[in-house]
Amino acid sequence: MRHGYPPVWLSAALLALALMWRMVGAPLTGPQLEDIQTPLWQARVLLPTRVARILRLWLPGSQEAQAQTIREEAMGEEGQALDRLMNGEERRMISVYLADEGRVAQMELESYVCGVVAAEMPAAYHLEALKAQAVAARTRAVWQVENGGCALHAGADICTDSAHCQGYATPAQCRELWGEAYTAYRDRVLEAVAATRDELVTYGGQPITVMYHAISGGRTEAAQTVFSEALPYLVSVESAGEEGAPGFQQDAYFTFDEMAALVDEAFGLNLTAQEVERTLAVAGYTDTGRVAAMLVGDMEVEATAFRQALGLRSTWFTLSMDGSGVTFHQRGYGHGVGMSQAGANSMAADGADYRAILTHYYPGVAVEKR
Ligand SMILES: [Zn+2]
Repeated sequence: MRHGYPPVWLSAALLALALMWRMVGAPLTGPQLEDIQTPLWQARVLLPTRVARILRLWLPGSQEAQAQTIREEAMGEEGQALDRLMNGEERRMISVYLADEGRVAQMELESYVCGVVAAEMPAAYHLEALKAQAVAARTRAVWQVENGGCALHAGADICTDSAHCQGYATPAQCRELWGEAYTAYRDRVLEAVAATRDELVTYGGQPITVMYHAISGGRTEAAQTVFSEALPYLVSVESAGEEGAPGFQQDAYFTFDEMAALVDEAFGLNLTAQEVERTLAVAGYTDTGRVAAMLVGDMEVEATAFRQALGLRSTWFTLSMDGSGVTFHQRGYGHGVGMSQAGANSMAADGADYRAILTHYYPGVAVEKR
């Protein structure tokens, strides 16, 4: 045997191993790996997983285990924790357009609901409020699946744009949002989702059109005043105990110059600051006391459009003017239709369970597994 050359069988074995290595591909995409720069370190971290994968792939009866591993990786840590809570039973999938990443991802429904609850409601809220939010988020998702999906993104049942479909936070975003409280908050969200598994808000046996918002301001708004469509379960109800919520009342100030620029842009007007100062007024109120329409120049605009143009927190406001601008004294946060999250938290603090919360904010509905 010559020195300095490996035997043929060893070369062949190494080549085969290298080929298998490439075939199996990169098994980990976890955020911790992004920090590891050197190939040596990467190999050291990747080696055990890759070897385990190769073994799973080639050992008899391993196809199921293989599929399970791929699914868990796709679902991430939250999905795995959820899996343990739910004993790994068969569950529904949903296609989600991830607005931040510009792509559609296939997700397990309950895992998706966890991300919505995390994004849409403070995780420090009472558990029964989080459960109500989980059922509302799931109902919206199933409604979307059964009603043609997201209108903005073909091929997706729902998108993560909170202004269009529903907000959604990835595990990485949750870590950033919650910091040191991450594990505690994640477990609360998981518990809320697992405890309400498969439950939907229904009316006449069908999932309802779900609306919810952060703070109503003391009374919710009927759907037809905001979305021009009346629904029997989206009517105005009292929402007590919100006063302590941060941002229950908040002022917003605009100079007349700023106002003129914003309304001119939004409504195709050509008003000066002086004309805005002279003409700006409330043109009408809804039954709940919110502003229904505003006068600006000689134009009457809907309060919802006006709110959007100025980025106001709600349409429940009064205004006061001084020599240079206008202050909006705003009440509540959001469109005001359906469940108030701050109100749900207040009900939960008073001992209401999630079913009582949901049937209060959506009168006449049922909460059922479907
Ligand atoms: Zn959408």
